Amino acid sequence: MTGTFDADVIVIGGGPVGVTALAMLGQRGLTAIGVEKSSDVWPTARAVHFDGEAFRMLQSLGITEKLADTTRPMNSMHIQNEAQEILVSVPTGRFGTQAWPDDLTFHQPDLERVLREAIAELTGIELRCGVTAEGVRNIPGGVEVTTIDRDGAERILRSRWVIASDGARSSVRRSLGIEGDKFGDDADWVVVDGHLKDSPGYEDDMVFICHHTRPAMWVRLPGTRVRMEFMLLDGDDRDEIVTPEAIERISRGVLPAANFTAERQAIYTFRGRIAQRWREGNIFLAGDAAHQAPPCFGQGLCAGIRDIANLVWKLDLVKRGVEDVALLDTYETERKPHARFWVEQAVKAADFLQTLDPEAARRRDAFIRANPAEAAPVSPPLGPGLHDGEANPWAGQLSPQPILADGVRLDELVGLRFALVVDPELYSGADVDLRQQLESGEEVTVIRQTAEVASLLEDLDTRAVLIRPDRHVLGVADSPAEFDRLIRHLPGLAVETVQNA
Ligand SMILES: Cc1cc2nc3c(=O)[nH]c(=O)nc-3n(C[C@H](O)[C@H](O)[C@H](O)COP(=O)(O)OP(=O)(O)OC[C@H]3O[C@@H](n4cnc5c(N)ncnc54)[C@H](O)[C@@H]3O)c2cc1C
Repeated sequence: MTGTFDADVIVIGGGPVGVTALAMLGQRGLTAIGVEKSSDVWPTARAVHFDGEAFRMLQSLGITEKLADTTRPMNSMHIQNEAQEILVSVPTGRFGTQAWPDDLTFHQPDLERVLREAIAELTGIELRCGVTAEGVRNIPGGVEVTTIDRDGAERILRSRWVIASDGARSSVRRSLGIEGDKFGDDADWVVVDGHLKDSPGYEDDMVFICHHTRPAMWVRLPGTRVRMEFMLLDGDDRDEIVTPEAIERISRGVLPAANFTAERQAIYTFRGRIAQRWREGNIFLAGDAAHQAPPCFGQGLCAGIRDIANLVWKLDLVKRGVEDVALLDTYETERKPHARFWVEQAVKAADFLQTLDPEAARRRDAFIRANPAEAAPVSPPLGPGLHDGEANPWAGQLSPQPILADGVRLDELVGLRFALVVDPELYSGADVDLRQQLESGEEVTVIRQTAEVASLLEDLDTRAVLIRPDRHVLGVADSPAEFDRLIRHLPGLAVETVQNA
């Protein structure tokens, strides 16, 4: 019990985003109760891919070995047309700027199990399965959640904040009257996961199959698992289309009935939506409750993990009284434009992929051949918030993560705090009191440039960089005056910063 509250945070929905929230809250010492209406992990896989950024965010939970066992770095992706001509071929899964492979595939229930194991070890964190949130309302200074357990028993829980990660159909979002903005056209797809044995499948790990007679996707997962997705067409019989014979037919023999054992087939509506508001008082929407995208770039879950990585350290600073509650406004201003970028990219890719008219398909093919970079969009910076804005091009961008000489990754050295990586000459010119405060305080790890982190400053072409706990760049500085200005953004500094003359 925190004061009159049962916990600092109640997390509604124990899907991958909710469980990531519980893990990150617990790691920072906040107390949290998660409620999940299902009794166990949802057995059907949805997400199959995440990127190096998502891996890095989960790295902070100390589960990298388990994640490495659960995931498979991707090697290659291509886009092909009806004639099976390769329009673009992209190497993927390289060991990238995040110090992890850029693209990895996995079986979502396996990933969720790893996340649930992580929260089992945290004190102050509890996930109550078989418990449904029936109602949620803001109360003075907090939130009240009415829950009902599987025996029908009703309870009232109170917390300072709620994270509603209750999925695309979010009842919390609906109960708050928050509408979603629609992007692109909705389309129904059959999604098939299963084991493929003694049959080659596609050579590349991910294939956008732009067949205008039947758009489809292919993804190779860890072990013998593969995923194929097929667009439903007018006239398809929804019962017949999921039979082994139909899957062999629509996969053009890539998933032969004799070699492919389906674990599950489901029909999903692929759609793009962004909730118009992500916050109502002390209730925050996150994950699919806030945004949904067609799975073309495999960014839906990645976006949900980014939401949590963005929100949790802010809740922590506010809870500890280091920052004013106004900091929490930056969750939506920073995350929403970023999520919108990926929804728009995915919708655009889905439009390309879902082209059924042969003439339009020819034009599409010509466009892709001429614009191969469209196949690999680059993540934008955060929207306006706690960073240097447009003052410099790195502000709000995800920072690279160098691997240090002893094999340790930068974030392990930094921990959960802000990181200040600074050229020693620039740093030694800063006010003595300020330096003392920086080095003795709780909020920042100061790393004076060493050979090991020099690469970071070189990559950013700067003399000092301030990195937030969610590993985004707050700002960079090249001169004493810029350094002084940059440092003022740091929460918890008790003195005005002044630069030595
Ligand atoms: C076919 C397909 C492929 C995809 N591929 C990818 C991919 O490759 N990469 C990627 O990043 N993303 C992908 N996605 C998207 C990804 O699966 C989702 O973004 C992700 O699962 C969202 O997680 P979430 O925790 O926000 O929501 P969910 O996983 O939907 O979890 C919500 C949870 O809340 C629970 N819940 C709901 N209401 C209540 C309530 N009132 N009380 C208590 N509990 C409640 C539900 O039972 C559920 O467990 C794909 C999606 C689909 C459909």
